[in-house]
Amino acid sequence: MSNPHKNSVAQLEQVAQLLKSDYSDKELLFDKAIEKLKTPDVVYETELEVTMDDGSSKKFKAFRSQHNNARGPYKGGIRYHQDVSKEEVKALSTWMTWKCAVTGIPYGGGKGGIIVDPKKLSEKELENLSRSYADFLSDKIGPWVDVPAPDVNTTGQIMAWMVDQYQKNLSKKGLIQENPLGTFTGKPLALGGSEGREEATGLGGVMVLERLIEKMGFDYKKNVSIAIQGFGNVGYWFAKHAAERGYNVVAVSDSKGGVYVPEGLNPDKTMECKRANGSVVKCLCNEKLCDMKNGKVITNEEVLELDVDILVPAALENVIHKDNASKVKAKAIIEMANGPITPEADKILSKNNIILVPDVLANAGGVTVSYFEWAQNLQGYYWTRQDVVEKLLPLMENAFSDMWEMKEDHKVDGRMATYMTAVKKVVDTMILRGSI
Ligand code: GLU
Repeated sequence: MSNPHKNSVAQLEQVAQLLKSDYSDKELLFDKAIEKLKTPDVVYETELEVTMDDGSSKKFKAFRSQHNNARGPYKGGIRYHQDVSKEEVKALSTWMTWKCAVTGIPYGGGKGGIIVDPKKLSEKELENLSRSYADFLSDKIGPWVDVPAPDVNTTGQIMAWMVDQYQKNLSKKGLIQENPLGTFTGKPLALGGSEGREEATGLGGVMVLERLIEKMGFDYKKNVSIAIQGFGNVGYWFAKHAAERGYNVVAVSDSKGGVYVPEGLNPDKTMECKRANGSVVKCLCNEKLCDMKNGKVITNEEVLELDVDILVPAALENVIHKDNASKVKAKAIIEMANGPITPEADKILSKNNIILVPDVLANAGGVTVSYFEWAQNLQGYYWTRQDVVEKLLPLMENAFSDMWEMKEDHKVDGRMATYMTAVKKVVDTMILRGSI
């Protein structure tokens, strides 16, 4: 299994080579900035002690990586997963620095994670774990320091427990004037959340899809077929917004496998069926609910190899690697998961002329609406869903145009083009601060 942090450093080194000539008068500063960006500013780690339902206590390893805060407070989600590792959290925090720079929101990058399979915990144990993590974080975060959010397997409810615990810790220290709501995003609407946050990552991805389709010269959306690996929050909202705009979503999958329906599936019915039966693979038997009579069950690997126009990996990292990259038949890939393609696979895809919209651009809608949520919390004034969607659109579209322009000008792939714009913004700010 490749090391995600090493991958993120390899990507940065490649970008640095391409950007170097822009900094001929500041070569030393540029080199120093790149060197600094290879390692997070700080990585905290601990063992959380959690009381279980049977009265015993259990330990869980937890991390928070703060990568860079040149452009603003560290920002990024918290992941609960059995495969979380320090190296993964470091990589994810690095990608958050680029992601925030891509849409131009005023943050740096951070990421947290706990090694846990949340499906094995009861609701109460999950709450205890989340409160214990908030205790660990309390003196390391704040609206102007580090602003956590949900990521894989973390929800609005988990953010609500964390805000509550964080606020209790502030009160204990007599810091009652601090704003606890502005310290976490992805909160439920009733507790300072933003309209549109839940759907934001998927919706932002579809805003990018629309511009990509224009550039690729497709003129009739119904002919554009899309396969999505992953049908959690991101995959579902991507599928829903794409289908509503007339695209043909032909496959979705979850951890148990996928379904392929050449004439297109209905994301809402499929989600309803997944909820009722535990997985999309159980949905073909129930034609009335899911309307998939001509579909078939396929594996997660087969989803990646379907002959479709657009492939959307929306689950975990490293799913497209050197051994399966040459089997990808899609014309373009929109990376809705973080880090789903390894650097070796990138090279193969690029050689095969597969257009790539990388994670830090494609899934930036989530953190961008987190920024809107934070801005609303700090103002104490709340926007409508329409306000959110109207403000998200130009940020996603501009980020896409910047990427495309860079791609054409420098004859590089989508990832390099996006990283070049992002790394340049971060390095310029570091030089401007004069602290390197
Ligand atoms: N976890 C999401 C991401 O990777 C959202 C982060 C945030 O809103 O801070 O982009």
